[in-house]
Amino acid sequence: MRSVDVIIIGASLSGAAAAKRLVDAGLETLIIERASLPRHKICSGILSPRGHRFLLENFGPLPREVLHDPTSCRGVTFHFPSMVSFPMDFFGGTTPHLYRKFSDYWAVKRSGAEVHDRTTFTGLEDNGDHVIVHTRDREGGSVSYRAKYLIGADGPTSPVVRALYPNYPKQIPWFFVGQKLHEIIECPLDEEYFHFWFHPGLGHYTWSHARDGKQIVGVGFKVGESFDRKQANVVRYLEEKHGVILNPQPEPDGTAENFGPSLINRYVFGKGNAIITGQAAGFLNMIGEGMSCALHSGAIAGEAIIDSNVRNRSLQELYRKMIASEVRRTSDQWNPFKVALGRPHEADFPEAFLKLSMKDRARVLKDTWNFLLLYKEFKWGRQIIAAGAERMLKGGYSMKEWK
Ligand SMILES: Cc1cc2nc3c(=O)[nH]c(=O)nc-3n(C[C@H](O)[C@H](O)[C@H](O)COP(=O)(O)OP(=O)(O)OC[C@H]3O[C@@H](n4cnc5c(N)ncnc54)[C@H](O)[C@@H]3O)c2cc1C
Repeated sequence: MRSVDVIIIGASLSGAAAAKRLVDAGLETLIIERASLPRHKICSGILSPRGHRFLLENFGPLPREVLHDPTSCRGVTFHFPSMVSFPMDFFGGTTPHLYRKFSDYWAVKRSGAEVHDRTTFTGLEDNGDHVIVHTRDREGGSVSYRAKYLIGADGPTSPVVRALYPNYPKQIPWFFVGQKLHEIIECPLDEEYFHFWFHPGLGHYTWSHARDGKQIVGVGFKVGESFDRKQANVVRYLEEKHGVILNPQPEPDGTAENFGPSLINRYVFGKGNAIITGQAAGFLNMIGEGMSCALHSGAIAGEAIIDSNVRNRSLQELYRKMIASEVRRTSDQWNPFKVALGRPHEADFPEAFLKLSMKDRARVLKDTWNFLLLYKEFKWGRQIIAAGAERMLKGGYSMKEWK
């Protein structure tokens, strides 16, 4: 049986960031990826300025092939049912529009870790001083590996989380997020911006932006409804209200999403010799921006293992202490006290809001409230307020509810 220091499940950005730290520290690191690399990943690819800095500092300048066209994004435009719209530029200038298929592969290769693609994680046994990781290889055969540590960097539906906590998927609500890429007949939406609609009649998460001469129209909603119907409704709305005329596009692209844990401080960080990072752990910023926290949390996962290995200290204890800074950054974005009193985001919402007339501000507040009511059934309100208040009083988020 092959034996290495660390196995990472998932050749994504969090996996690449963790691998970079581990390889730099001299640990033998193997990434296991179920897809064939470079692999497709549904994503708008708008990297936050903080995520951009991470890539530059850790992996170097971005080659052209890791970017879509337009190659950069200036900011986000919010749209409301009362037809108030306003753009917000990212702090510090434009950010890259990543082509995830190639950007992730580029980062993984630059991490220096060995990669086994078309190999699917199927389970693990934690034996105290090592883990046995079971996989299905490209020929469909069972192959097991031995490692001192395991990192689950395997995204929202994380099979590693399911292996460690079989009941976890039943404890959180699941969303479906899907998009279609349309040929454009006419599109007045500014292609320099990512567009987001706070419209309860459209969906829980409704967006559009330019990509490679076409227009993405996407919608997210609670699992169980029809994607084609919801998406067609958004396309119709964009035509009626914004004059966007698109050719129908039959090719859907979608995935299940674990939106929620970062709002209510319910992260999943692992147990024994296995730790969880990236979106698998629950990291997701405002407007579904998950790449910067995937990168940073991945790097912290790698650092925690290095520290645990060198100092012979409990991995779980170290990881929880070290990851608290990333939890603060991410959960602050959803914390109403921080939003009101600080600047947790990388674009200036308060400034854009204050530029509106008093009448438009009132419209935006009313529309936002109606939009938030869509989330009422998840009963997150009280939990967000309680976690947010604790953060303000104690300077951090409680670790009590973390798994
Ligand atoms: C429609 C959409 C739009 C988005 N737009 C943006 C955006 O504009 N900006 C932004 O920052 N974020 C965006 N996000 C969020 C972002 O894509 C994720 O938060 C981010 O990719 C999470 O990275 P990760 O490293 O945690 O995992 P992922 O990127 O999800 O990668 C997990 C990897 O694990 C692999 N894997 C899974 N199971 C197994 C297994 N059993 N064995 C082996 N490998 C496995 C997968 O194949 C995958 O390669 C968007 C998400 C969606 C769905």
